[in-house]
Amino acid sequence: MTPAEHAIDLIRQASRIVALSGAGISTEAGIPDFRGPNGLYNDPGLFAQLSAGGFARNPVGFYQAGLKLFPNITRAKPTVAHHLLSRLEQQRKLRAVVTQNIDGLHQAAGSRTVFEIHGTFRTGHCTGCRTSYEMQAFYESMQDGSSLPPLCTRCRAAIKPDLVLFDDVLPPDVWEAAVGVIENSDLLLVFGSSLQVYPASELPQCALDRGSRLVIVNLEETPYDRCAEAVVREKLGSFAGMALAALNLGPTSLRI
Ligand code: NAD
Repeated sequence: MTPAEHAIDLIRQASRIVALSGAGISTEAGIPDFRGPNGLYNDPGLFAQLSAGGFARNPVGFYQAGLKLFPNITRAKPTVAHHLLSRLEQQRKLRAVVTQNIDGLHQAAGSRTVFEIHGTFRTGHCTGCRTSYEMQAFYESMQDGSSLPPLCTRCRAAIKPDLVLFDDVLPPDVWEAAVGVIENSDLLLVFGSSLQVYPASELPQCALDRGSRLVIVNLEETPYDRCAEAVVREKLGSFAGMALAALNLGPTSLRI
């Protein structure tokens, strides 16, 4: 049995699956990851601007860095792997997706129970009066750099996307819910994460401590590979296509 076949077999046997996704699930949608082979981690200047301190010092620089790091994020469509997870949820085999991603592609694929532990770029708040905003229209008007930063229509303070930035703390309610659902899983699927970003990197251990099984699908080695029952070193698109067919969830019935 290949690692991919073993992983699919574990999915077949499980009934309380939780997925932990990272940037690697969205690279095939055209959104670059940070630490993969074509990752963006080599530009520390960009990352300094994407911190809470960076936003406070220079909101224009923050948005310019974001546009450089994620040029395709507003146009991206969910991948086969996003669809696999939503189909597993529809089949009542998967209880939740815990994602480190900020791109909203799990919801776009139809996943309903999604814990965004690093927040989302799709909504934002005024840093002055806390009015909330849908961000899409701002991103579209920002492309030529002329409307930076977006300003609150009520108080004219800068609007900040609802992201957990590098020096921010995670929203405690979302984090606790994610840990709770992982502790009650019987299989944790790690899809496209280097498992190097703390505290998300602790989540596989929460699953293992409660006797849950671990499957990792990632192009590169992770610190948890030796604890996993199956490690699939393939592109998620190819693994997910194989899983959809083997589990009779598509791809013929799937409109992507
Ligand atoms: P990461 O960049 O640290 O690791 C991504 C992993 O995915 C790499 O190990 C890479 O080998 C693997 N990978 C890339 N493409 C793959 C594919 N097609 N199939 C299988 N594996 C693939 O990502 P991370 O662990 O999520 O941590 C990065 C942080 O940056 C997260 O906190 C996340 O919030 C943020 N981020 C988010 C996005 C997004 O929302 N799409 C994109 C980049 C970074």
